[in-house]
Order: sequence, then structure tokens, then C-alpha cells
Amino acid sequence: MGMIRIHTTATSPLVGRNNAALSGIHLTPDAAVRRIVRAGAIQAGDYDQLNDGKEAGSPSTVETCRENSAGIRQCLRTPEKRLQRTPGRPSRLVPDLEEATVNDLESYMPMARSDQLRQQMVDAIVSDRQRKGTDFSIMVRGRPVYDSDLWQRAMQQLPAEQRSEPRNGITVHPRTQLNPDPLPLVLIGPTAFGPLIDPSNRDLVRELVVRLYTAITHEYRHATQWQRPAEATAMGRVRLEVDAFFADIENSRATGLAGQREPFRHTWDEAVGWWRQLRAPALWGALSDDERRAYAERCRRVFAVVQSVLGRGVSSPCGP
Ligand SMILES: [Zn+2]
Repeated sequence: MGMIRIHTTATSPLVGRNNAALSGIHLTPDAAVRRIVRAGAIQAGDYDQLNDGKEAGSPSTVETCRENSAGIRQCLRTPEKRLQRTPGRPSRLVPDLEEATVNDLESYMPMARSDQLRQQMVDAIVSDRQRKGTDFSIMVRGRPVYDSDLWQRAMQQLPAEQRSEPRNGITVHPRTQLNPDPLPLVLIGPTAFGPLIDPSNRDLVRELVVRLYTAITHEYRHATQWQRPAEATAMGRVRLEVDAFFADIENSRATGLAGQREPFRHTWDEAVGWWRQLRAPALWGALSDDERRAYAERCRRVFAVVQSVLGRGVSSPCGP
């Protein structure tokens, strides 16, 4: 009965995990997860030319600047309110997000060390997704929270055997000591931002941006699960993680994870680890025939995506 619903682990500081998806098809064996994107919501393809050609510092953006502890001035540009409702051109790195959003994230990833700047990066992702109809009111404060103090407290409340797992995000269950609210509390942690890196290492910067986004989408998935606390509790951590990691793979084109081979592979490894736990007799035997069939079918669909990214050499864990 952990008080905290977690997320994922990173075996290497540069390897992403924690991914869930904000958009796309959510194949759900359980009613606990509902469709995230509202019907009729604006899709990424509805690019509005109003946003075309906006440059840094143009009058249509708002700049927020701070000095970090090293005395380096850091600024984050966000579109002014008038433009925040208009989806822009989709990013090639992270198709779920706009090019302008991802450009900002790439600019700030190498130097965003303060809680405030990191929260602004999270907020930039939230604003982008809100323009496409993703509902963040399902979680406390209406967005994932970056707060190193809160993060520390959450980590301390984890069951002892889970504390050493490096995590990019944590979804704290509703109505717990750390989160008395009826909604889940989503925390994004320092590992989701990676280590201090050389800004000229563009490949690594891009990988970290994908990692941050997938950390948020993975936790968002958990937040949807906890909209129905009784169902989520009944499912248990293994089934919740199988669902969230399968969703990471299912949505990996939209999140950009499919374009990052090593993080993708580690996400798949994580999915397989949880899947094997689900297939242990105690859990698997407790499912109905229909549930087992649905899980097996979903596993095969997910595995087809994995093969399309990693190649035919990967073996299937799905079973007969
Ligand atoms: Zn998870």
C-alpha cells in the first residue's frame, strides 16, 4: 500500500524512462484510464500561420529572465496570451509539441538548473498541450510540479525498497499525507532534466528534451489512472505500470521516443519487466479470460511497434 504511485527508473542518467502519452490512441484493458484528448480538440496539424515566422524577442512573445547561481542570465520565451490558443507547426523531434516550444526547450535544457526555470519548461509543455485540448485539471495545481523540496519529501515517503530507484517522475496518490487533495499530484524530478551538459552536444540536448516530455506524459498517464482511485488501487502497481509503459511505446512516435533508440530500448526493457511480473501466476491467474486475452493482444500490438523501431532481433515477451 504505497502512498505514492511511481513511475519509472533510469538505469543510466542519460536514459529516459518515465514516459506516457498525452495523445493518440489509449488502448485500455481497464476503465480506469479514459480518453485524454477531448473530442473535437484542435490537433497538431491545425497549424495557424499567425505563428509563422515569429522570432525570438518579437512583440508576440513574453520573455522571463532570471540569473542563475552562476550569474548566467536565463530567459524563457513564451507566446503571449493572444497566441497561446493557436497551435503552431509541429516539431519534428516531438510531434506532439510545436516547433517553437521544442526550440525553447532545447535552448534552456542545458542551463535550466533552478526550480523556477524548470517549472517554466514544464509549463511550456503544459501550455502547448492545452492548446490541443489536453486537460491538466485532472491533477493538483493543474500541471506537473517541479519542486526539489517536494520531490525530496515524496522520495522519503516511498516504500524503502523503492527509494533507491532513480525516477524522473512521481504521481502521488490522492488523499495521502503528502497529497490530501482528491486529485493526484504529479511531480517531475531532477533526473528528468539530466546532468549538466555541453549545449553544443545537440544530440544529447534533444534526447533530454524527449526524456522530459516523455516523463511528463508517463506521469500524466498515471494521473488519468488515479481519476478513479478505487479502480487504480484494485489494479495494483504492476498493472498500472504495464499500462503506462505500454502507452509509452504506443505513443512513441508522437512523443519522439521512437526516434531515441537507447531511451526507447530502456523503456521497452522497463515494460517487459513489469509485463513479466504481470505474467507471474499469482497476478495472471487472477485475471479473467477476457482480461488475459486483451492484455496478450495489446502486448502483441506494442511489440510490433518495438520491432519497427528496434528491428527484428528483439524477442517477444507476449507469450501464446
Ligand atoms: Zn510509471
